[in-house]
Amino acid sequence: YQAGINRSSHLPAETIDGYRVKVFANIELLEEVSSVLGNGGEGVGLYRTEYSYLNRVKLPDEEQLLEEYQDLASIMFPGKVVLRTLDVGADKFMHHFGGLDEANPALGLRGVRFCLHHADLFRVQLRAILRASLHENISLMFPMVSGLGELRQIKAVFNSVQMELKKQGLKYNPEMPVGMMIELPSAMITADILATEVDFFSIGTNDLIQYSLGIDRTNSYVSYLYQPLHPALVRMIKYVVDAGHRAGIEVSICGEMAADPYCIPVLMGMHVDCLSMNPQAMPVIKHIVRQATMEECKTLLKEVLASKTVGRNNKLVKDSIFRRH
Ligand code: PEP
Ligand code: MG
Repeated sequence: YQAGINRSSHLPAETIDGYRVKVFANIELLEEVSSVLGNGGEGVGLYRTEYSYLNRVKLPDEEQLLEEYQDLASIMFPGKVVLRTLDVGADKFMHHFGGLDEANPALGLRGVRFCLHHADLFRVQLRAILRASLHENISLMFPMVSGLGELRQIKAVFNSVQMELKKQGLKYNPEMPVGMMIELPSAMITADILATEVDFFSIGTNDLIQYSLGIDRTNSYVSYLYQPLHPALVRMIKYVVDAGHRAGIEVSICGEMAADPYCIPVLMGMHVDCLSMNPQAMPVIKHIVRQATMEECKTLLKEVLASKTVGRNNKLVKDSIFRRH
């Protein structure tokens, strides 16, 4: 079995009957690129940009960020690189700003809310990303967007940064794809509206599970309830994938669910375009895709959608994997 996994790692993730899914990596440090390439990653589906802020004594300046993003894009070329704007707060504490006094940090100033609140810091990052976008394999993605109003607010800042660069004679790629994460229930249920104003979706199942099932992702007392195949989650993901596809945009999964072998046939059955995961998981996931047929993934998805409990869903996916191996 291990030999099969090793063989699969540098082959495309394609089912026996010819359905392709992209396999990308989630990383947070430039040094991880070797592990992305070594494990057969086709691109970086999520670059968590917060670490270069957290790792420094002083906030990084525009030139430092520019160099980091350019390096990442050129090492990964022609593979795509999705730069996610700063997603700090809650679980990712930011010492530069002192402790935020929040009773519920997960429901507080994080993701794009933090960036809109600290607009100067956000603009520096957007300038660096835009300048790096001359590397045409770069895309931009916003985390924790709650709805269309907020998306438009962020885009207004983004447009104003573009004007500023233009005035200064600094070049950028005006065609850089701009996407958003779907990780709040409010964004999930309005995905049909949001899909008309972004170039792609990436579903962040880690937070989507946290916020829709009401489970703090870092709280071990309730981790047993953290179940990606909860019928609520399966329906939500299907809804977002369908809404994205109806609007003609790609939909990726970038939470840990994309690295869970049991979830892969269900996600494949929905025709997700890309699975983005920690680099070490990629060979196994590719192997699973390469051994499946879309027909069986669709049958399984149908059974899962008809089931009423997470227990039944877990059994359905386990049985389907055993049928094959
Ligand atoms: C997610 O929420 O699923 C996600 C990928 O983002 P992060 O884990 O960085 O919050
Ligand atoms: Mg998240």
